[in-house]
Amino acid sequence: MSLLRQPLLLLARSAAVKKMVSTMPVSAGIVRSYVPGETTDSAVEATGRLVDDGLRVTLDHLGEDTLDAEQAEATVAAYLDVLAALSARGLTRHAEVSVKLSAIGQFLPESGQKIALENARTICRAARNAGTTVTLDMEDHTTTDSTLSILRELRKDFPETGAVLQAALKRTEADCRALAHEGSRVRLCKGAYLEPEDVAFQDKTEIDKSYVRCLKVLLAGEGYPMIATHDPRMVEIASSLASRYGRAQGSYEYQMLYGIRPEEQRRLAAAGETVRVYIPYGLEWYGYLMRRLAERPQNLTFFLRSLISK
Ligand code: FAD
Repeated sequence: MSLLRQPLLLLARSAAVKKMVSTMPVSAGIVRSYVPGETTDSAVEATGRLVDDGLRVTLDHLGEDTLDAEQAEATVAAYLDVLAALSARGLTRHAEVSVKLSAIGQFLPESGQKIALENARTICRAARNAGTTVTLDMEDHTTTDSTLSILRELRKDFPETGAVLQAALKRTEADCRALAHEGSRVRLCKGAYLEPEDVAFQDKTEIDKSYVRCLKVLLAGEGYPMIATHDPRMVEIASSLASRYGRAQGSYEYQMLYGIRPEEQRRLAAAGETVRVYIPYGLEWYGYLMRRLAERPQNLTFFLRSLISK
C-alpha cells in the first residue's frame, strides 16, 4: 500500500486543510478531471454525454459529515432538483442517484439516524416518481450498522434502493450473504476510507482476495451485483465468475468513477456489458478528491501544480 495513502486519507478529514484548499480556484486543474462541474446543469450535461455513449450514470451531490440540519435539507433539495432535471431531459431510464447518509443528517446530534432516514425517504420517493432509483453510498466502518439499518427500513417501501459494501471490511463477506437475495442491488467496492486493523484488512492482496470472495457470493446469489472497481484483474475475474455462475449480461453491472479509465468503460459497454459511471458534482469536492489522490498518489503532483499555477 502506498506510503502516501494514510496521510492523504487523514488530510481528507481535516477541516482546516479543507477550508484552505477549497477556497483556491482549482476549477481548471485536476478537480475537473474527477468532477465535471458544480451545478445541476453541469451534472446533467455530463450525464447526457455519457448516456449518448451507451453508458449509465449515478449522480452524487458532493458533501458529507454535516452537523447542520439546514445543510442536510439543502442537500435533499439538491437531489430533488437533479432528479427533476434528469426527468425533464428524459434521462432517468439510464441515470440514478447515489446518496451519502452523512450529508443528509446521519451525524446530527440526538435524532440523526431518524432524520437521515426521513430525508432518504424523501429522495427515494422523488426518484421513484421520476422513474429511477437511489443507492446509499457507504462511508467509514463506524457508519456501517447505521447505514444498513436505514437501508432495511427504506427497502420496506422502496425495495429498489441499492446498498454499497466494502471488501476491505472483515464483516463484508457476511453482509454480502445477507444481501444476496432477489431484488437486492449491491455495489461492491474495495473501500475508500482509512480503517483500523481490528475491522479491516490492511494489505492490498488481502483486500483483493476479500473482493473476489464477495464477488462469488453476490454473483452466485439472487440479487443484482454492481461491480465497482477500476482494477483490470478484478474486472477479468468478475467476467469469468459471471460466466461460471451462468449470469447473462444485464443481470449485473460494472461501475467506475467519472474520469477514471474512460476507455475501459467504453470497451466494456461495447462488449455488451452494462456500465454505470459515478458522477460527483457540486462545490464540496475536497474529501472526494483526497480519497482519489490517496488511491493514485502519482496525481498529487498535478494537483499541487494546479494550486500553484492559479
Ligand atoms: P485499486 O486497488 O485502487 O486500483 C487497482 C488498479 O486499478 C490499479 O492498479 C490500476 O490499474 C487501476 N486504477 C485504479 N485507479 C486508477 C486511475 N485513477 N487511473 C487509471 N487506473 C486506475 N468507496 C467507498 O468506501 N464507499 C462507496 O460508496 C464507494 N462508491 C464507489 C462507487 C463507484 C462506482 C466506484 C468505482 C468506487 C466507489 N468507491 C466507494 C471507491 C472504492 O472503494 C475504491 O476506493 C476505488 O474504486 C479504488 O479501488 P479500485 O477497485 O479501483 O482498485
